[in-house]
Amino acid sequence: MAELEQARAWIAAATSLAVLTGAGISAESGIPTFRGAGGLWRDYKPEELATPEAFARDPRLVWEWYNWRRELIAKAAPNAAHRALVELEKRKPGFTLITQNVDGLHDRAGSGKILKLHGDIWRMRCTACGANWSDRRAPLPKLPPHCACGGLARPGVVWFGEPLPDGMMKEAEHAASSAQVVLVIGTSAVVHPAASLIPCARQAGAKIIEINTEETAASARVDCALRGPAGELLPLLL
Ligand code: NAD
Repeated sequence: MAELEQARAWIAAATSLAVLTGAGISAESGIPTFRGAGGLWRDYKPEELATPEAFARDPRLVWEWYNWRRELIAKAAPNAAHRALVELEKRKPGFTLITQNVDGLHDRAGSGKILKLHGDIWRMRCTACGANWSDRRAPLPKLPPHCACGGLARPGVVWFGEPLPDGMMKEAEHAASSAQVVLVIGTSAVVHPAASLIPCARQAGAKIIEINTEETAASARVDCALRGPAGELLPLLL
């Protein structure tokens, strides 16, 4: 496959690389993506649950969904694609991993610094005092969970309509615009501002390589679109 060889050559020659991952990289670990088959939970769309409005309306319902996802993720393990990125990080002096995923599988695979644009499902935040802590229990013993101060806890993730963690997008933009090669893996490229990293890198002259099982909103504007599961394709690129 000529495209695969081309992508391999670009990666081999690059000294600076940025990677943007989405839910698709964890699909082979058994974690459902948002869009596509298996994306629904009890007939709700994620867009109806992952919002501040949904949480204000019915915190218990939103927590039931997160509790279900935490249980699914707790049973999952990093796959060959997560592991390939750990290997790539070892080989490249300039390497930045940017993820939209909240599942923590990049951490568990052994990746170093990770820009978690959408937060972390294993963290909690108090809606009253702002405390922020890690809680890996799955299932949670009581829903909705509360902070030690008595305030209602929320998942430590970024919901639709919320800003990204302070300064993180700037750091991601810097990495994307200074990389020679940008790998875009398992994202439908429709959630902004994460998706805007792709045109940002392209404008700065990076070669963009997409790995996805399907065509996406970004496919027409990448330099190389590889079709197939990330767990199979990514190890072939190293
Ligand atoms: P998305 O659900 O919109 O898109 C997933 C993409 O992955 C699709 O384009 C699909 O074709 C592709 N895909 C599916 N299986 C694949 C595979 N084996 N290999 C390669 N590609 C594959 O996900 P997104 O673009 O990340 O959407 C952004 C939002 O989804 C974010 O807010 C993110 O927080 C959230 N999300 C995260 C998780 C997680 O942490 N695992 C899971 C679901 C959604």
